[in-house]
Amino acid sequence: MTAKTIYVDNNATTAVAPEVFEAMTPFLTNLYGNPSSIHYFGGQVAKYVEDARNQLASLLGADPREIIFTSCGTESDNAAIFSALHLCPKKNKIVISRVEHPAVLNVGKELERRGYRVVEVPVDSKGRLDMESLQSAVDDETAIVSVMWANNETGNIYPVSEIARIAHSHGAIFHTDAVQAVGKVPISMNLSEIDMLSLSGHKLHAPKGVGALYVRRGVRFRPFIAGGHQERSRRGGTENVAGIVALGKASELALENMNIETDYVSSLRDKLEKSILESIPKVRINGDPEHRLPNTTNISFEFIEGESILMLLDQFGICASSGSACTTGSLEPSHVLRAMGLPYTAAHGAIRFSFSRFNTMDEVDFILEKIPGIISTLRNISPYWKN
Ligand code: PLP
Repeated sequence: MTAKTIYVDNNATTAVAPEVFEAMTPFLTNLYGNPSSIHYFGGQVAKYVEDARNQLASLLGADPREIIFTSCGTESDNAAIFSALHLCPKKNKIVISRVEHPAVLNVGKELERRGYRVVEVPVDSKGRLDMESLQSAVDDETAIVSVMWANNETGNIYPVSEIARIAHSHGAIFHTDAVQAVGKVPISMNLSEIDMLSLSGHKLHAPKGVGALYVRRGVRFRPFIAGGHQERSRRGGTENVAGIVALGKASELALENMNIETDYVSSLRDKLEKSILESIPKVRINGDPEHRLPNTTNISFEFIEGESILMLLDQFGICASSGSACTTGSLEPSHVLRAMGLPYTAAHGAIRFSFSRFNTMDEVDFILEKIPGIISTLRNISPYWKN
């Protein structure tokens, strides 16, 4: 074990910010009441849930009544899509992108099994959405279009406002999975046409197990989880008060720190990327550098396996991610890199580094000190590498 962890896997999950931990702790200790209780002890807690709703609404430029707290980003995505389909029983088509997170892609697979037509819009070699295909896929049969705000693997940002307009021109609902965008880029729902937006606490320095769904006022919504009257009868289940308070505080901090995200965090990412490109041969950046999250880079080290790179990085305490679905045991490149048509030798050697405001330039320097040696060690034993 190394003494220090260098955590550059912030698109997987983030550290709980100290202020967030402090804000949520009373609700795990003294203030454990149920916000729905009639007695003062429980009822007093409801105010904190509403404060959190206001904090999150400010981050999104939304009305607090447009926020429904959920358990995670996946639940929010499911809730949005199933609601739209239920409320438009005459329409049986859904349009998504090929690079969605499994929280949307696998809803698509399930809907196909149930007889819906699901169109996955392709992307180009930089992961940019094929807008012409999208235009022709969306028609009057389409109940909902769901395209992510930002991609978790490449950081690519998609033209969600434009896509919302296309959806609306055919009377379809537009939902965006903004799990990777919220807290990293400014969002103003009051200036947009987006109907529904999903987010998740653990991607913005709140804990795991809390998320939210934004539903624009006037857009009809059918609860995904039926039950009690919580969340104005839009999401049954006793509220995860500590998690909700944490998400509220994390939202407040994200708003305060938005400049840090765009300036400081991107400077860490840019330094890493630039130095790697300069010092290591046969390297490529995957994605669209012009429309990208400030914290993410996805780099292919050609002719070697991403998993081997991760293992050697791990020996130095450096935590990053690869683009392979290694959980399947197949080391298949991820669906995102495959959709981009990356050559085999590049797709297999893809590593994602994702930063947060808690990373430092010293950490970037440490990674830069270690990575050239790791790459040349692996290339020297790679049957595909010819120097
Ligand atoms: N959508 C995107 C783009 C994600 O990156 C993730 C998590 O990695 C999710 C949805 C799922 O969020 P959660 O882990 O809160 O269910």
